[in-house]
Order: sequence, then structure tokens, then C-alpha cells
Amino acid sequence: MPLIDLTQPIEPKMSMFPIDPQPIIYPWTTIEAHGFATNALFMVEHTGTHIDAPAHFIRNKKSIDQIDLEKFHGRARILNLTNFGERMFVRSKDIKNAEHGNKIARNEIILIRTDWDRHWRNKKYIKSNPGLSADAAQYLVKKRVKMVGIDTPNMDNPDSAKFPVHKTLLGAEIPIIENLAHLRKVPQNTFEFVAMPLNIEHGTGSPVRAIAVIRK
Ligand SMILES: [Zn+2]
Repeated sequence: MPLIDLTQPIEPKMSMFPIDPQPIIYPWTTIEAHGFATNALFMVEHTGTHIDAPAHFIRNKKSIDQIDLEKFHGRARILNLTNFGERMFVRSKDIKNAEHGNKIARNEIILIRTDWDRHWRNKKYIKSNPGLSADAAQYLVKKRVKMVGIDTPNMDNPDSAKFPVHKTLLGAEIPIIENLAHLRKVPQNTFEFVAMPLNIEHGTGSPVRAIAVIRK
């Protein structure tokens, strides 16, 4: 049962938004001095491949520890939108085209593949990403999907200070995954997907290990 890792590595020099700190992986104890080795971690919850909880944008909405685990596991579908490059935003009609007549079903996990993760170590990764438009987010809300992921750092336009895609999806209690990686390695369009967040009290999000489970 092959498992395909769909996450970016967490490392000190990884791609981060300018407002966020670079993660620190600090050697805390050592085998030489203490008999056991540990690292202390310092990072925002939205480091690397991560899930956004509704509380990230909306007051009094669910934090990451309050969301049913069932939301983070299920049947996923990759929508191939690799023709969307730098600062191009997917509209609802583009999602409909990518459905190829096989309509998105309720409770599907929708993963938007742009292959933007190829620019992971490049400055433009953070600044010039493709993403979704507000009407695409509204379409996915209407479809009552379970979760929406993308292989870019931001599902919204990087120049938007209003975050309409985040607010539309999170407002409908649909968690968001950003910084997915390697969607091109998944050999089939629909598959079982798992991305479990840490159980962080009042967390606005969490890094995840997102995987595709390919059952033969
Ligand atoms: Zn986030």
C-alpha cells in the first residue's frame, strides 16, 4: 500500500511569508550532556504544508483542536489546473472544466494542482503564486466539499489584503491546506487522502503530514 508524501520539509531556510518567522529547530538536549537528544521548535502554526482552521480568519469559529478528525481524511480528487501559472486565479468555470463531466461530490476533498511547488526554493514562490478567485471558492462551498488544498503558499491572490477565498471557505467550515507538494506524483485522480493536524489548544492551524494512500 504505497504512501505518497505530499508535504514540504520544515527547515530553517524554507519559504515563509515576510510577516512570519523562519522556523527554529533548536538543539535543546544532547545525548552527550543529557543522555537523550531533543530539539525545541519555534514556528508559526502556518509553517510548511499546513491546515488553516476557521479561527484563522473568523472570530468565535472553530480552532484546529475543535474540528472533527473525519474532516482531515477521505476521498480526494486532484483537479489539474497546471495551466494556471504566476498570478493566475482559477474561476468557477475553470473548476467545472477540470471536472470533465465527473461532478464534484459532497464531502470530497479537492486538491488544486498547479505545480507551483516547483518554485518552492525561489523568491517568487511566496510573492507571485497562482490561486483561486472568490467565485471558485463560492462554487466549492455550494458543492459542500470537505476540505480544499493547493500546492501554493496562499489560496488567495498574494496582493489581496481581504483574503476572500480564505473567508469564503473557512466561513463555511471548510478547512484549507496550503503548501502541498508533489501532487504530480499521485498516479490517479481520486484516492484516499490523510492530513492530520497537531492537537494545538486554540490553534489557528497546524503543520500536517499530508499523504496519498494508493490502494492496489
Ligand atoms: Zn495558513
